[in-house]
Amino acid sequence: MNTAELPPRESMEFDVVIVGAGPAGLAAAIRLKQVAPEKSVVIVEKGSEVGAHILSGAVVDPIGLDTLIPEWRTEESFVRTAVTEDRFCVLGPSGGWRLPNLLMPPLLSNHGNFIVSLGDVCRYLARKAEALGVEIYPGFAAAEVLFENRAVIGIATGDMGVAKDGHHKEGFTRGMELHGKYTVFAEGARGSLTKGLIGGFDLAKDSQPQKFGLGLKELWQVAPEKHHSGLVQHTLGWPLNNRTGGGSFLYHFADDLVEVGFVVHLNYENPYLSPFEEFQRFKTHPLVRDTFAGGKRICYGARAISEGGWQSVPRVAFPGGVLVGCAAGFLNVPRIKGSHNAMLSGMLAAEHIAEALAQGRSNDELSSYDAAWRSSPIGRDLWRVRNAKPLWSKFGTLAGIALGGLDMWANTLGMPVFGTLKHGKSDFATLKPASQCRPIAYQKPDGKITFDRLSSVYLSNTNHEEDQPVHLLVRDSALQKSSEHDVYAGPSARYCPAGVYEWVEDAGRQRFVINAQNCVHCKTCDIKDPNQNITWVPPEGGGGPNYPNM
Ligand SMILES: Cc1cc2nc3c(=O)[nH]c(=O)nc-3n(C[C@H](O)[C@H](O)[C@H](O)COP(=O)(O)OP(=O)(O)OC[C@H]3O[C@@H](n4cnc5c(N)ncnc54)[C@H](O)[C@@H]3O)c2cc1C
Ligand code: SF4
Repeated sequence: MNTAELPPRESMEFDVVIVGAGPAGLAAAIRLKQVAPEKSVVIVEKGSEVGAHILSGAVVDPIGLDTLIPEWRTEESFVRTAVTEDRFCVLGPSGGWRLPNLLMPPLLSNHGNFIVSLGDVCRYLARKAEALGVEIYPGFAAAEVLFENRAVIGIATGDMGVAKDGHHKEGFTRGMELHGKYTVFAEGARGSLTKGLIGGFDLAKDSQPQKFGLGLKELWQVAPEKHHSGLVQHTLGWPLNNRTGGGSFLYHFADDLVEVGFVVHLNYENPYLSPFEEFQRFKTHPLVRDTFAGGKRICYGARAISEGGWQSVPRVAFPGGVLVGCAAGFLNVPRIKGSHNAMLSGMLAAEHIAEALAQGRSNDELSSYDAAWRSSPIGRDLWRVRNAKPLWSKFGTLAGIALGGLDMWANTLGMPVFGTLKHGKSDFATLKPASQCRPIAYQKPDGKITFDRLSSVYLSNTNHEEDQPVHLLVRDSALQKSSEHDVYAGPSARYCPAGVYEWVEDAGRQRFVINAQNCVHCKTCDIKDPNQNITWVPPEGGGGPNYPNM
């Protein structure tokens, strides 16, 4: 059946439609109800429940929560552990150096921050939002932006019950149209609708290309003697070489939990590099592995983070809609923190929307929000660190971090030295042909501290309806073979943290296999495919990981 023959979609009218129940979307909804309780607000969330697709560190700067819900500390909100010790180390293959905290720019200090599961924070925010009258629909992906006279008028959720070959199965249900006077896009890093809006409205024409990292994370229950409640440790260096950006985090929280993760900057050059395997390797370092001895890995997942910062934020307002949170790129890379700015930007957007609604306006451009963020706490947070990522990319880890530290000190003291540096190429364009690179030999997993992809994905509780159209769209199959495989040696099989992509020999020919049901929605393929030949679109609502507390 083609679209013209489909039954019409039902529609519902709201004042504000929000896509995504992460910290940004939920903060926007709560703030709207705080300042304009009579306005109707709806959120759609593609995860099976709020929090199911949330993956973060997470050490949270409480500025967002304090501003939104001042009473959160005195309520039964969520498990949190105050940071008691902050360590920053540079690793070599067999040892490491701890950098004295006194040398670190004060903005990197975690004093006063809390270690949490961001998924749990979102569940708390969702309860708050619902108590204020916000309607939240988990299990529904926003699949299409709706326009009228070149202005956004809402979104449509995806149809349910379409088979892999396109025919309608029993129980086929048409998506719903949710119309809003304003629509807030809070999809997080590399949002699928956001990407279309940035292109369609040319929102990035005056900004640098957005940069990304891939963050992989495991949650461990560790032996009591290995747990140091409140310890926050970050590392740089090994196992990555000096030309490859990234690093680890290790957060001890609750009674016996450790959140361990590894971020690889997606401007890496060697197509043989596997972020997943680098993460596994990192856990074997002599200064780290002991933490996991006698412990149990209880969850795994991965998610892209936006790393471009100040220079890469596109225009965040357009007719009928706004971008908030990591969809806009408000993450502070050296702090590895974005949840505070996600919440602050949700609130800021909400205040501008409420003001416009009070004036009887609708579906126009909220240029006041776009103008406001740079002089708000979000802008001040990103401005001081704007050169950290470009310096790292240009000079490699050791020199880049030293220069970045100097620049952050200089900016803190109000004496910037480097101006505002550029990022250079988009991440998809940084891969070198395989012929110019050395294959990397990774060790087999031991099943105790290091693991393979498939047993890892199992711990993400990922589940998709199998009989549905593949949600990873390859534009040109011939190009995938002639370039991704023949020139770059098939990096998708290595960058995908869930083992979705494989090149398989079939009757003497290479065939590109997509195990779409394993996808954890990290969005890396959409970012890193060297030809931008893969597009991630939302699968049927409710599909994807089911993170209990990531
Ligand atoms: C490994 C890692 C470690 C991190 N560590 C920290 C840290 O320690 N501290 C910190 O502050 N920040 C950290 N961050 C960053 C932080 O997680 C993000 O800045 C924050 O989650 C951004 O919030 P958001 O609401 O913009 O997007 P997200 O948290 O990504 O939420 C977006 C939501 O929208 C939903 N969604 C997306 N598209 C659609 C659609 N089309 N239809 C319906 N729903 C949709 C998603 O399912 C998701 O629930 C880390 C990130 C990673 C990956
Ligand atoms: S298929 Fe793409 S979005 Fe899904 S897990 Fe793999 S890299 Fe991430």
